[in-house]
Amino acid sequence: MTSMHRGLLMGSLAMALAVTAATAADRATPATTEAMSMLKDAIALQTVEGKNQVPVFARYLADKLESAGFAKSDIEIIPVEQTAALAVHYRGSDATKKPILLSAHMDVVAANPADWTRDPFKLVEENGYLYGRGVADMKSNVIALTQTFMRLKREKFAPSRGMIFVFSGDEETAMASTRELAKRYHDAEFLLNADAGGGTLDEHGKPIVYEIQAAEKSYADFLLTITSAGGHSSEPDPPKNAIYRLAKALEHIASYSFPIQHSEITLASLKAAGAHDKGPLADAMRKFANDPNDTAAAAVIAADPAYVGQVRTTCVATMLNGGHALNALPQRATANINCRIFPGTPIAEVQASLAKVIADPSVTITVQPPPPVESPASPLRSDVVDAVSAMVHTRYPGLEVVPGMSAGATDSMFFRNAGVPSYGVSPDFAKTNDTFAHGLNERTPAANVPWALEYWHGLLMRLSK
Ligand SMILES: [Zn+2]
Repeated sequence: MTSMHRGLLMGSLAMALAVTAATAADRATPATTEAMSMLKDAIALQTVEGKNQVPVFARYLADKLESAGFAKSDIEIIPVEQTAALAVHYRGSDATKKPILLSAHMDVVAANPADWTRDPFKLVEENGYLYGRGVADMKSNVIALTQTFMRLKREKFAPSRGMIFVFSGDEETAMASTRELAKRYHDAEFLLNADAGGGTLDEHGKPIVYEIQAAEKSYADFLLTITSAGGHSSEPDPPKNAIYRLAKALEHIASYSFPIQHSEITLASLKAAGAHDKGPLADAMRKFANDPNDTAAAAVIAADPAYVGQVRTTCVATMLNGGHALNALPQRATANINCRIFPGTPIAEVQASLAKVIADPSVTITVQPPPPVESPASPLRSDVVDAVSAMVHTRYPGLEVVPGMSAGATDSMFFRNAGVPSYGVSPDFAKTNDTFAHGLNERTPAANVPWALEYWHGLLMRLSK
């Protein structure tokens, strides 16, 4: 959860009481029992970079799906470099309808058992939490989606619109498998991403808000390079010194702010956050949501590091390198500038702005590999918003469902780039910074598993029937 939603606390305290009692009962269903045993197997498979376990995991999922009635021809394991992608078709009866894509990733971030309290590759349940690498990011939902497909197949559910799993195998690293999936599967109605969006709980475990992630900022790294003749350090010539000239360029970037921007998505989520909070920031959010030309309000929002990303493109120096010997004038100095680009702004435009701001033609600016992907925001389709809201309200009646834009990137960026509207609609509810995804002792509330099964079952039936 971004702190944007902290303000929603007060507005939704009354909205979350139906949780505890049901969870235990839900855990006893055949679906949940099956899912928990599959999750145990999934966590044990070390699908981290360099261990070649993703193809094994894909095979495991494929075998489970076949055992539930999927034909071999419905399932494809696609080898990609050191990993694999998995595509699974749930055929629809109306061939004129484009399919719904269901996105997830099978790989996880590395974990060193020596640093963890428990074995990261052994699923453990303690005090209402599940622990293990990938329980939050994102094997619980890989399994919940798989078990839901199995359940629907066993129930002989016959949708009119087809659904396709597009499970990648290196979302956390090179995303080569995602590129491959987007190349093969971009003629689709829309994509639901289980790796973004989701619900926020307050510190008491009560729901605050549910976010549908409908946009991601584009990610790009630019390398600034300055060279000079160099020479003996006893003969300094500051105007020509590569390090000094780089420092000047960085100064210019540090004091530059990209223009204020807004979208239907950012205005809606700022409005929701502002409506549920007090203080100058909440005031500014409400004013900006009401009038995006309100420069004073925009300035208040932009002054907060947690929110500046919601109202403009940001670029920041993240790495530096220069010089080759202690007693020699530097011949080369470089710096990396990491940019999070507002959807709809071309990467080239940001590069041109940086060149203008640096105002030193001897500074070369190059785009760092892999080539950045422009990711346009997705329109707020009412069928998706209504279906997700209806499912969220089966657990938390009346809870606020708002759109959101995240600064980080997911597999959605390749599909958005290929023209597929994409929505982060993870069923997971968690407290702020409480899952430790990518970190030590990753965990997720145990109640998320039975809920995810109900959520996906209802959502997929609603959207594909
Ligand atoms: Zn993830």
